[in-house]
Amino acid sequence: MYAVFEDEVPYIEEFANRTGHEIVQETDYLSEKNVDLAAGFDAVVTQQTVNIPDMVYSRLAELGIRQISIRQVGYDILNIDAIDKAGLRASNVAAYSPRAIAEYTLTQLLNLIRDNKRYYQATESGNWLWSAAPQGKEIHDLTVAVIGAGRIGSALAEMLHVLGAKVLAVDPVYHAQNEAFLDYTNLDDALKRADVITFHTPLNKQTNGMADKDFFQKVKKNAYILNFARGGIIQTSALLENLRSGKLAGAALDVLPNETEFMGKIQNPDKLPADVQELMSRDNVLLSPHVAFYTNLAVKNMVEIALNDAIALSQGKHIENEILY
Ligand code: NAD
Repeated sequence: MYAVFEDEVPYIEEFANRTGHEIVQETDYLSEKNVDLAAGFDAVVTQQTVNIPDMVYSRLAELGIRQISIRQVGYDILNIDAIDKAGLRASNVAAYSPRAIAEYTLTQLLNLIRDNKRYYQATESGNWLWSAAPQGKEIHDLTVAVIGAGRIGSALAEMLHVLGAKVLAVDPVYHAQNEAFLDYTNLDDALKRADVITFHTPLNKQTNGMADKDFFQKVKKNAYILNFARGGIIQTSALLENLRSGKLAGAALDVLPNETEFMGKIQNPDKLPADVQELMSRDNVLLSPHVAFYTNLAVKNMVEIALNDAIALSQGKHIENEILY
């Protein structure tokens, strides 16, 4: 088990004790440097934001391993063609807790529309004036466009609907049951009408860089942008341009395109990429360290589901979470 972080250890140990499987833990992420640690094992599991190099798949196959399982939803770190070529099977954890990400997105959205970053900074520096921030907004008075109404997007849409917001959804896949709490529409219409735009799509050829200059031109003045999916979906330069011009009222980002340079590390703020420093300096931008998933329930589920699936795949069994190609 690669890229193990401290919070996972109790769940891993509990699983090993309960099932009798031997699980050896490695804190570093899976790469060409440490793939050979898997020699002699039946299955590998990892969780990382760093792409897995192609040679790792062929090396795993040479070591007699038949699968690769990741403990996360987004599988853009995998090269499916290379996995296919190496003859491996692959799995993700499609749903360890969609609510974890949806609830955190909602938290940051509410912080954004009440300008909490400005109020926290102001009160900490002795300014107790209401005017430290502009008037807030109320969620039931807003229209929210959910781009990608899958597991996470629809969980968020349902909560927003309960709070009284108008929810629009853009998704090529239609789920009739979602009609109870959202209205499907096309992207242009959603951008024209939404006060809040929130991304919950995978990172793929269609979504990579989709929030670009043209996209922001179609957005309503004073809209808020949220990204709790994958950094690559938003072009940071285009986002910054629209924050600087005042077209956007604010943004909340849990993911960034260049996050692998600094995520999971203690960083000197002055050494961060210039675009990240500019985002940090803006009092209408909320940043968080790819943490939307990080709840006790989600961590437990991602460990258990990935281990169960890794074992099943190594034994040639059918599993729901198999990534089919
Ligand atoms: P999901 O597969 O259930 O839903 C994704 C939805 O996006 C699908 O309904 C799909 O049809 C839709 N979609 C695909 N391409 C689209 C496009 N071009 N325009 C509009 N919709 C499109 O996945 P999910 O569980 O809801 O997760 C969504 C994403 O969230 C993951 O792929 C992952 O990258 C990200 N994620 C982030 C965190 C975090 O901690 N920040 C945690 C888990 C997942």
